[in-house]
Amino acid sequence: LVPALPTLPVPARPDPLGVLGVPGEINLDHAASAPCARAAADAVAELLPWYASVHRGAGALSRRCTLAYERARQAVGDFLGARPTDHVIFTRNTTDAVNLLARALPAGTTVVTFGGEHHANLLPWPRGSVRLPVPDSPAGAVRSLDAALGELARDARPGLPVLVAVTGASNVTGECWPAAELARVAHRYGARILVDAAQLAPHAPVDVTASDLDYVALSGHKLYAPFGAGVLVGRADWLDAAPPYLPGGGATAHVGAATHDVRWTTGPARHEGGTPNLLGAVALAAVGAALDAADRAALHAEEQALLARLRTGLAALPDVVELRAFGPDAPRVGIVSFVVAGRDSAEVAAHLARRRIGVRDGLFCAHPLTRRLLTEAAARSGRTDLPPTALRASIGLGTTAGEVDALLTALATLPG
Ligand code: PMP
Repeated sequence: LVPALPTLPVPARPDPLGVLGVPGEINLDHAASAPCARAAADAVAELLPWYASVHRGAGALSRRCTLAYERARQAVGDFLGARPTDHVIFTRNTTDAVNLLARALPAGTTVVTFGGEHHANLLPWPRGSVRLPVPDSPAGAVRSLDAALGELARDARPGLPVLVAVTGASNVTGECWPAAELARVAHRYGARILVDAAQLAPHAPVDVTASDLDYVALSGHKLYAPFGAGVLVGRADWLDAAPPYLPGGGATAHVGAATHDVRWTTGPARHEGGTPNLLGAVALAAVGAALDAADRAALHAEEQALLARLRTGLAALPDVVELRAFGPDAPRVGIVSFVVAGRDSAEVAAHLARRRIGVRDGLFCAHPLTRRLLTEAAARSGRTDLPPTALRASIGLGTTAGEVDALLTALATLPG
C-alpha cells in the first residue's frame, strides 16, 4: 500500500452539476474531456423533441430552436463576462476558436506566445510570430512579455497590431498564468490579448470584462458539456472586418448571380457558416448557468484539497517526479503531470487502466513544453532514468478522495 498516505481533510464533495459517470470507472482525465453534467444532459433532452433548423425555418419548432440558440449565445456571453459589444461565436472547440481568430488578424499582426502553450495556441499563428521562452514564475512571464512588447513597439515592428496569445492554465502542469496582469502589460503597449481558457474555465470563473481580456476561447467538452461546441468571445472589430471563417449559408447578407457578387454579414453569423450545433450551444449555456449558481469558492477549496492530497501522495512515492515550470507553490488547477523513474509512461498508464483508472500519457499536445519540463525534472531530481513521455492525472467535479487514493495505491504497487 501507499507508504505515507496524506491525511489532509477532504470533505465529501457536493457536486452541484451532478456530473455523470460509470460506476467503478475512475476518470482522472478531466483535462482531456470532462464528464458530462446533468444540467447539460437535461438541457439537451428538453430540446430534442423540438429539434428543427436554426435560423432557417418559419415553423414553431424552428423558431423555438433559433430562440434557444440565440439565448445560449447570450448566456455563454454572460457566463464569460462578455462586454455588450463583444461577439460570442460558437465554434467546434478551442482549436477551432483560435484558428478563427488567427484568420481574422489584421494584416501585419505579430502574435506573441510562450513556449508553454498547447499546440492549439501555437500552431495556428502566422509566420513571424514571436515565441517567448517558458518563464520560471508567473512574475517572470509578466517581465518577459513587457520586454518583448517593448522591443516590438520600439525597434522591430512599431505601429503594427500585436496579439498576445496565452493560456489561462497549463494543460500539462495545471499552473495558472497571470492573465489579468499580462492583459495590463499588453494594453500598455496597445496590444490585444487572447486567453486560451480551455483548462482554466472548468476550474475558475473567467471574466472577460473584469480581467480586461480582448478574446477568450474554450471548449465545451472540458467544461462538463458534450463534444462539438466551443466558443470565441471578444472584440467585434477585427472579426467583422475579416473574411468569413466558413463561407457558406448563414454567413451572407447578399449573394448575386455573378461569381464574386457577395456581401458577407457582420456579427457572429459571419463566421458560423452552415447549420450550427444547437445542442452543443445549449448544453454549454446550461453548464455555465449551473456553475454560476454554484458556490465556486467552495468548489475551488475542495478541488485544491484534493489536489494537495494527490500531490502530497505523489511526492511520497520514491520514484515519482512531478513536472512543473513554476515553483512548487504556484497557483494551479487540478492537473498534475509526473513520471515514474525507470518506468515507461505508457506501461504505467496501461497498468492503471487495468485497475480501471483512466489517466493520460504522452506529451499532451504541448510537445515543446513537456519535453522541456522532462529535462528540467531530470536535472531537479538528479535521476538519469526518467522516461521520454509523462503521465497526467486531472481532477474536477465528481472526483473523490477515494479515487485519488486509488491512483496513489496503484502507483505504489506497480508490478515488478
Ligand atoms: N488549449 C488547451 C490549454 C487545452 O488543454 C486544449 C485541449 N487539450 C486545447 C487548447 C484544445 O482543445 P480542443 O481539443 O477542445 O480544441
